[in-house]
Amino acid sequence: MSGGGAAAPGALVDTHGRAHRDLRISLTDHCNLRCTYCMPAEGVAWLPREELLDPGELMRIVRIGLRLGLTEVRLTGGEPLLRPDIVEIVARIAALQTPTGEHPEVSMTTNGLYLSRLAEPLVDAGLTRVNVSLDTLRPDRFLALTRRDRLADVLAGIEAAAAAGLRPIKVNTLLMRGVNDDEAVDLVRWAVAAGHELRFIEHMPLDAGHTWRRAEMVTGEEILGALGAAFALTPVPARGAAPAERWYVDGGPATVGVIASVTRPFCGACDRLRLTADGQLRNCLFAREESDLRTPLRAGASDDDLAGIFVDCLRRKLPGHGINEPGFLQPQRPMSAIGG
Ligand code: SAM
Ligand code: SF4
Repeated sequence: MSGGGAAAPGALVDTHGRAHRDLRISLTDHCNLRCTYCMPAEGVAWLPREELLDPGELMRIVRIGLRLGLTEVRLTGGEPLLRPDIVEIVARIAALQTPTGEHPEVSMTTNGLYLSRLAEPLVDAGLTRVNVSLDTLRPDRFLALTRRDRLADVLAGIEAAAAAGLRPIKVNTLLMRGVNDDEAVDLVRWAVAAGHELRFIEHMPLDAGHTWRRAEMVTGEEILGALGAAFALTPVPARGAAPAERWYVDGGPATVGVIASVTRPFCGACDRLRLTADGQLRNCLFAREESDLRTPLRAGASDDDLAGIFVDCLRRKLPGHGINEPGFLQPQRPMSAIGG
């Protein structure tokens, strides 16, 4: 294995000068919803259980990532709260340290269904931030979008997370044309009243059924147009590596964000690496290749060997996701398996 010599803090700067700080870990490809833009209704080819990383293997990988310069870990999936060991995983990651003795930030993206039960233990374990995905406030639409009748559970989960101290909660919303694209203003009103930060995410070509069509995608510009007719929007400065462009709503302090990954890519500021639930490192959501960490890890590779795989993976990172280029090919794995 090559590249072990580069395994020092600061090693995660790619050939385009981007320093990488953030590791997104998919903990499982399973989910208790079936959002139409993410998973098929049935017939998902699940990862074999024995291929999923266990907490000890995850810690080893995160520890090496921290040694190389990562400072943040976001847990996602699939639905991360389906992992029976989720509280243990959060606690063990939160207890790790960077070479300068700081603990990593541990955050999570979840559909919120199990937050009522888990928000408090997760905060006690060291979870600092949560993003909850919610696309509609109408039960019939929730059922149509997610194929499950669970809106009340998500709303209760968001309340539990706020009560457990995870404020401000970021709410991720995806608008689908003809399904919920008339709800942008209602969703922002709800979020502002509740003290949550809503962020609209453009639909990306990552669904299992490969049904994404550019012409059907609700663009960030359209969303801003609809919001601008209902609210006074003032840009919030200092976007940094954060993907959301944000606006104060009616003078603030409440804000709304738009993550226009397709029409206004932010690849130039990307600081993320991704680890799939079966231990494959990806340098981009849209990467066409993965670097296998699980096989060498289980075969007894040294920390330096594994660090070398991180560095090699990053070295191959392209300047952008290429969605807007003619030869673009959607990755084989859907969002639920890569980790959103
Ligand atoms: N199950 C969790 C949840 O829904 O928050 C975590 C995983 S989910 C894949 C993470 C985020 O990806 C969600 O906010 C979801 O809306 C978003 N997502 C899923 N498929 C997407 C797609 N095709 N384009 C854009 N975002 C997508
Ligand atoms: Fe599950 Fe999240 Fe995908 Fe919806 S977006 S199907 S909640 S993984």
